[in-house]
Amino acid sequence: MQFTRRSMFKLATAGLTSLAAPQILVRAAQAEVPMSATMPAAYKRFSLGEFEITVLSDGHRIVPGPQKIFGTNQTEEEVSALLESNYLPVDKMQFTFAPTLVNTGTDLILFDTGNGEGGREGGVGRTLSNLKASGYTPEQVTVVVLTHLHGDHIGGLMESGAPAFPNARYVTGQTEYDFWSSEDRIGTGAENGHKGVVGKVVPLADKMSFIGDGESVVSGITAMAAFGHTPGHMIYGLESGGRKLMLTADSANHFVLSLQRPDWEVAFDTDKAMAATTRKAVFDMVATDRLAFVGYHMPFPSVGYVEKAGEGYRFIPETYQLDL
Ligand SMILES: [Zn+2]
Repeated sequence: MQFTRRSMFKLATAGLTSLAAPQILVRAAQAEVPMSATMPAAYKRFSLGEFEITVLSDGHRIVPGPQKIFGTNQTEEEVSALLESNYLPVDKMQFTFAPTLVNTGTDLILFDTGNGEGGREGGVGRTLSNLKASGYTPEQVTVVVLTHLHGDHIGGLMESGAPAFPNARYVTGQTEYDFWSSEDRIGTGAENGHKGVVGKVVPLADKMSFIGDGESVVSGITAMAAFGHTPGHMIYGLESGGRKLMLTADSANHFVLSLQRPDWEVAFDTDKAMAATTRKAVFDMVATDRLAFVGYHMPFPSVGYVEKAGEGYRFIPETYQLDL
């Protein structure tokens, strides 16, 4: 059977009583209702022990050609087949960006800042508006942690030429900062990234401290080296009241292509072999310990679990586990 409007209408009305049916007919005959062009506020909030966690949407972006980004050491057919078997389109993909706000009761810590004002025409750069929609002000943020210094993580640091979070101190990895801020990047594939860091991060250096593997931002929030995606990419373990959450940042950039095939090369990864090794180490831990995690590029609201499956992992979106 073909799902034409007519057959849908028949389906919709077939089970209705004679009392309800005329109302449906009246509604169908009314003038058209314009679609709302308003973007809904998008954030997800839950508690983790004494911490309150708010995952903020920075918006999303449509990108053509998944095969040019993921599985670049595989045939295009292989990548397309995996997408198809997961009910995903093969010609384009959606990227989401999810900075996370952690209220410890004494600090309000923002992990990554999204694409910022430069991305707004393209539908991203919504972190600031969603932070406000979630009930906070940018002035309340006391710490901004940068998991790494790619443009979609540092873009929101500045707003109209001034710090977007005026009262915050900053934390990032020493290796990461040294790599991107160095003039040695000029003339290499990392030159654009270097320019972004010089524009957005270096001006904040006097309020920045550098964190190493196993060190804490504040009590209960611990950095882990997860190098590969970038030279100094760090992830964070959160623990409060006996509950745990990992912020895995860009250890995986797609919920199917990166997680089901962690060994596939990804164009975004600076050191592709190291990134794959790190990806497997991170998600082996997440799976083995049955941890909840926020993945910066997982489908919004970007919170879930993984289970080991074949050569990789199956992403299990969080539903209500963290609300109970
Ligand atoms: Zn990213």
